[in-house]
Amino acid sequence: MKGYFDANATTPLLPEARAAWLEAVDAFWHNPSSPYRAAAAVHARLEQCRTRVASYFGCPPESVVFNSGATEGNRDVLAYWKRVAPDSRIAVSAVEHPSVLENARAFWGGETVVIPVNSEGQIRLDMLEARFSEAGDISLLSLMAANNETGVLQPWREALALARQHRAAVHIDATQWIGKLPPDGLADADFVTGSSHKFGGPKGAGFLLVSGAFSGFHGQRGGAQENDHRAGTENFPAITAMVVALELALVNGSATGRDDLAANLSSALPEIRIWGGNAPRLPNTLSLCLPTGENTQWVRRLDKRGFQVSTGSACATGKEGPSHVLAAMGATPEEARRTIRISALPDATSEDWKSLARAMIDIWDEGFSEGPMSQVIQL
Ligand code: PLP
Repeated sequence: MKGYFDANATTPLLPEARAAWLEAVDAFWHNPSSPYRAAAAVHARLEQCRTRVASYFGCPPESVVFNSGATEGNRDVLAYWKRVAPDSRIAVSAVEHPSVLENARAFWGGETVVIPVNSEGQIRLDMLEARFSEAGDISLLSLMAANNETGVLQPWREALALARQHRAAVHIDATQWIGKLPPDGLADADFVTGSSHKFGGPKGAGFLLVSGAFSGFHGQRGGAQENDHRAGTENFPAITAMVVALELALVNGSATGRDDLAANLSSALPEIRIWGGNAPRLPNTLSLCLPTGENTQWVRRLDKRGFQVSTGSACATGKEGPSHVLAAMGATPEEARRTIRISALPDATSEDWKSLARAMIDIWDEGFSEGPMSQVIQL
């Protein structure tokens, strides 16, 4: 998908996932809970999907709860925790997705323990340890695996070990990690959220992994679907398409295209800054503070040239103020307004990255620089 560099917002449906969806809407549309053979066939396929997700993560099938996506999963984990442990508190990092931060504030208000990040955007493990030790009443840590705006990977394995030492449960929002990096170890957490449309599946589908220790987990209430964990008729076509996408998701560890783009821009433009540039990051993501020009101008001009990038998180669109993620990393509001997020699909070629670099340098030449810079680098 040439020109599309907003994969952290969403991804196009993989052809194989589309085929699975179409087959399911035509042939397996019955309600999987209905009491006749056609419905039983859907039910059996739904359970196969559960087993396939379980084997992808290395957890028991009973741990897999299908839902509508990560916003629902994140909200449901926090709502459940508030119900079962009302007198304890939750710790979150300052850079969590709004579906964690807003729900933490809604359920715990000012009692939410917000752990700061360092200037590279990684949770301060020393502060986490200190809060666990001094507070004594933190019973859940909710930490994302990879940040949607900067791509910075959190040291979630270390944080998990720390939480275990303090007998706290752990929720990992793995929405941006899944499909981009191997899933090893994620299922060690008590709760893991995932979202289909971030890895080539349809929108409005996702899953939550719930460890056996919390077999009484309930998300939305009503019928007894999903082993009584989440009410509502399962969206089997979306679920089967999601599972196909999950199994096909290219776990592409190469950051070469992304790093070449950064190198090319660094030599052509003065003073670019890469947020989280010294931290491990998702290989597809670059959060770039440009020397001049509002990010909205860059986005519009790139759009006119056929490139889709973002000013930050799609979920923050329409919200006032600079990104809370960049602010937590020490960015000034002015720096945040000069920042764009570039996030590639797994099949982006080095030519796609080079074309984007050329377009950005053209834009710079046009409007923001003293003189033409394009001759500075060879693309
Ligand atoms: N968590 C993270 C880290 C995300 O990036 C997103 C979406 O951008 C979500 C949660 C919400 O996902 P969904 O679109 O499935 O509700």
